[in-house]
Order: sequence, then C-alpha cells, then structure tokens
Amino acid sequence: MIASRVFVQTVHHFFPQLNTWLDRLPDTRVQEACTYPTRFLAWWGLLLYVLQFGSRRQLDFQLNTDGPQVLPNLNRLAQTQLATRPVHDTLDHFLRHTDCKGWEKLRTQMVQRLIRMKALDPARLLGRPVLLLDATGLICFHRRHCPHCLTQRHGNKTLYLHHVLEAKLLGPAGIVLSLDSEFIENADAQAAAGRSADAVKQDCELKAAARLLPRIKKTYPQLSFVLSVDNLYCCGTFFALVGDLNWSFVVTFKEGRTPALWREYQALLPQCPENVVKRLWGDGREQIFRWPPQLDYQDSEGRDFTVNALECTETVKEKGTQYFAWLTALPVGRKTVEEIAEKGGRSRWKVENEGFNRQKNSGLNLEHVYSTDPEKWKVYYLLLQIAFVLVQLLERGSLLRRLAAEWGQNVGQLFGSLKNIAQRLLESLRYLSWEGEWFDPAQARKMRITFDTS
Ligand SMILES: [Zn+2]
Repeated sequence: MIASRVFVQTVHHFFPQLNTWLDRLPDTRVQEACTYPTRFLAWWGLLLYVLQFGSRRQLDFQLNTDGPQVLPNLNRLAQTQLATRPVHDTLDHFLRHTDCKGWEKLRTQMVQRLIRMKALDPARLLGRPVLLLDATGLICFHRRHCPHCLTQRHGNKTLYLHHVLEAKLLGPAGIVLSLDSEFIENADAQAAAGRSADAVKQDCELKAAARLLPRIKKTYPQLSFVLSVDNLYCCGTFFALVGDLNWSFVVTFKEGRTPALWREYQALLPQCPENVVKRLWGDGREQIFRWPPQLDYQDSEGRDFTVNALECTETVKEKGTQYFAWLTALPVGRKTVEEIAEKGGRSRWKVENEGFNRQKNSGLNLEHVYSTDPEKWKVYYLLLQIAFVLVQLLERGSLLRRLAAEWGQNVGQLFGSLKNIAQRLLESLRYLSWEGEWFDPAQARKMRITFDTS
C-alpha cells in the first residue's frame, strides 16, 4: 500500500495540474478521434514505464481484467469513468495522434513546476542549476529503417543506428531529470569518410549540442545553467557556444584532447602550493583539491579563452587513489573549489549510473524497439523520460522514507530493491482499492516532500 500511496500523493503534490496537461497532448491537426479520453490513454502509456513492463505487450497481461482494481484505480488517477480498458494497440494508435512536441511541452511543464517549487535547489552549484550532457545509442537495425539513421560499417555488414543527446537537470539525492533531448541524425555525421570513429562521434555530439543548447535557453531564459560535460566537449567550439548563451561549464580535463593546455597546467600548479584544500571524511576518505591561476587557451581556429582549472585527488584506505581534473569558467578558489568538484565534476557519474544505465538495465528497457515507425519511436522515448521523472520522485522523496519509518523500517529493508517498488505498485494497482483521500488536492498541497542527499 505504501508504494501506491507515495506514488499518488507525490504526483498530486508536485503536479496538481497533470490531468489537464495530459488533455492537451494530441496534435490538433489530427482530426480522427480516439475512443478513450486522452488523459486516460496518456496514463496508460506512462504506466508502461512507471511499472517497468519492458514491452508494450505486457500492458495487456499485467493490466488485464484479472486485476479487479485496475480500471477503478486508473479511473481515479485520470479522473475518468470508463467501463472498459484499452489494449496495447490502443496506446500505439493514440500515440499516432500525438507528436513529439506535445510530450516535450508536458516535460517542460513538469520541470518548470519543480524549478518553481525549488524542489531541486539543494543540487545547485554556486546558485546555478547544473545540466549534465550525455549521449547514448538507442536502437540498432540491420537494415535502414528511416532516412535519418546513422550508419556504421562492421566488416561487410552495415548497422543503422539512432543516438540521442540528453540534457539532464541534476537534482539532490542523485536525481537526474530529462530536461530536453536532441536526436543525433545522419546529417551530423556527414563527410565521415577517412575520419576516425572518435572524430565523427565528437562532431555529431557537438552539432547536436549546438541545436540543443540554444533551444534550452529559449525555453528557460531565466536560468543560468552550468553544463557538466565529459572531455569530448573540451574544445573552443563548446566554450564559445556556452559563452554566447551566458552560461558556464565544468568539463573533464585530460591531456589527450588539449595537450598544450595540459602542459601549461602541469607547469603552473607547483608554483602555487598555497592553493590547496584538504578534507578528511569520517569514513576515512581523504580528498586534496588544488588549483592554479587562470589559464590562457587558444583553440585551432585562433579563438582566445581564459579558463580555470582544478583537481581532486581522493584516497580511500585499501582502495587506492583516484585523480580527477576539470576546466571551468566558474571562479575557482578556496571557497568554491570543493563545490565545483563535487556538484559540477563528479555529478557526471550520476548521469551514467542513474541515467542511461538504469534506463537500459531495468524494466524501462530503453533499447527495446517500442515502435518500428520511423517517427513514433521518438514519442515512446519521450514517454519513457517523462515516466522516469515520476519514478525518481517516487523513489527519492522523503514521503517514501517517512512511511517506511512508520512501518519501522528504512526503504531498503522494506523493499529490498528499486525493482520491488515498481512490483509493489503494480500489485496494489491490480488488487487494492486506492483511497480517496490520497487524491485530495488540499492534502497534497499541504504536504512537504524533500529530497535529502543523506
Ligand atoms: Zn532510422
């Protein structure tokens, strides 16, 4: 009962307007009507991912009439009064009435609302929200499936691929919320002949970033983001792009991509031994932060930049020492160096562990082909990202911890794994009648849900 109560109350607390937003999803240019109300079908689609079914067919088996409460509970969620359930083909048909724009707008409404509620503020870096950029492969075919596929030769075989570049907003407690997505398409990989796979990948991602970031600026003009990115973005093209937007960045610094800058860094660091902060943690971890004065950088096109550098050497007893370095446009000094390293630099690991990894290696099943339609699979991708926002708010919020504590346990003891939270939610949806007071907007408004990093 706990998982479903937390799910319902979390949704109502953060997104009291959600059903109204869902009503506005369909592309109004499509005239043909669906039998089921839009908000009901949108919930049907979101639950495919919230409940982590792994494939569309599972909707028919998991949300079937054997579960006596499926329909009444769905009617409560969507505030509808339907007498029959749809099947998975109904969802596919419905998604034909929506396009990416509708779902993108819904995602923006949700993220804007979380920003206005200041729910994510503890993760800010020097007062600025942190955006993680990360690309991944999504689907792979042995024959061309649309004109936009990226192609890759393997011996005498050609693979047809789709990649995406995600901008994820960093929240507290390891939350990473999809804020915008840019699909990497074959126009990005043109003139690939004779170039290394790495060079083509770089080119593709940077071109996608050049479309993605100005669009985010338009959607969120009030926010001054810090972009947390890997070494691929350590170049003048990216520094100039971020400078034009009046944002900042923290980029992984390594020798290979910018050797001259690395040499300058290594030469300057010993000249300022006073620029050091040491931190000893209760668990025996020791961190040493160092930074040199500003570095001058001229890129291959002759553009001049000044950047700050910082490093962290972390020693864990019996595990050894790890070394990290970053470049940033933020001011680095005694008061800021740790915060930049932790929130701007090491937070990148989270997008890898909590983001695409989780989405691929769970019932979210990111790499599953939910639709072979050349355009519609993108709608499924967005649906997954939006559902994953709800999943993370459910799992990471203080409400789940509080209700588990009332049961005398912590979340780990009560559920064992994240997969089991989804499983409990499904059982409850099928067999238990969800209580009316969970849906009470006045109660949801009064509630306090925080995301602690502890
Ligand atoms: Zn394609």
